[in-house]
Amino acid sequence: MNPHTATPRILDGIAIAAGIKAEVAHQVRQLGPQGITPGLAVILVGDVPASQIYVRSKVKTCGELGIYSEMITPPETITTEEMLDLIAKLNAREDIDGILIQLPLPAHVDTRRLLEAVAPEKDVDGFHPINAGRLLAEGYSGATTSRSGKLALAPCTPAGIMEILRRSDIPIAGKNAVVIGRSDIVGKPAASMLLNASATVTVCHSRTHNLARFTREADILVAAIGRSGFVTPDMIKPGATLIDVGINRITDQSQVDEFFPGDEARAALFAKRGSTVVGDIHPAAFALSGAYTPVPGGVGALTIAMLMQNTVTAARSRRSTLDRA
Ligand code: NAD
Repeated sequence: MNPHTATPRILDGIAIAAGIKAEVAHQVRQLGPQGITPGLAVILVGDVPASQIYVRSKVKTCGELGIYSEMITPPETITTEEMLDLIAKLNAREDIDGILIQLPLPAHVDTRRLLEAVAPEKDVDGFHPINAGRLLAEGYSGATTSRSGKLALAPCTPAGIMEILRRSDIPIAGKNAVVIGRSDIVGKPAASMLLNASATVTVCHSRTHNLARFTREADILVAAIGRSGFVTPDMIKPGATLIDVGINRITDQSQVDEFFPGDEARAALFAKRGSTVVGDIHPAAFALSGAYTPVPGGVGALTIAMLMQNTVTAARSRRSTLDRA
């Protein structure tokens, strides 16, 4: 075993996100004299409390960066046809550069059809098949521009992961990257971006046999599973970079004791709020890593920053200040 003794580096997502937001605000200011204010429309259907929190913080960040935002809140009972109509109107609006449909949608609505109805050039979540296809075909490995310098609207969370790695000077080319999880919004695009950045990529998922034999080879391990503390210390290569995408709310004292023994700040927070969050990587594994993203304060902080970047990229592209794709 590789005796890794150095203190792991904490990859501070909040600081990295602040840097990106400052850059986005600068881009917005540059567009001002051209009469362009980037605009984002966020559609929030029904009353899902977690979604309301996410949407509010997206709208708030738009305000901070000088981006116009509009929140549209149809009732839970809205039909697919009515949603299609709403999306068509937003597609046609000149002042709206980005359209975001907050997921999950109610079960009676055809989510896939709606995501495909968003104009690809306004698809700031990067979920439209055109943008998913471009991610593979054009080989981009993050937000802003592709290899050919064209519009790149990449899914925000994986684009944020790439920014964390790049801005922390973590080498990617030639490294073994293992992604656990193959969702369309995190795992698959993260694997594509790492591949495009010349890592040797392995994707593991719920049907992978003996997952640890892959994760132990990972120089960069991305966990996007949705299971508290799933990756344990015995599953990692000492010195690896650990990227923890998971956000799992825990409400049991026994879990707090298991994941955060002796962590008084966490215990106090839990006592106050009755819950806390843990990632998909067991915190004990972080101690063996070379660098890791904490939860909270890691990957999660980047998602909104990348959404803001995508909105400005979409505005610049659509309004011809950047090459059209
Ligand atoms: P998902 O449920 O769509 O996908 C989970 C993936 O994990 C699946 O591909 C599945 O194959 C894999 N998986 C499940 N059980 C497994 C097992 N036992 N072994 C190996 N693989 C297994 O989830 P998602 O939307 O990709 O989200 C994953 C996590 O990331 C969640 O905790 C979510 O809250 C979090 N998330 C965070 C952000 C952020 O901004 N930080 C954004 C999106 C998702």
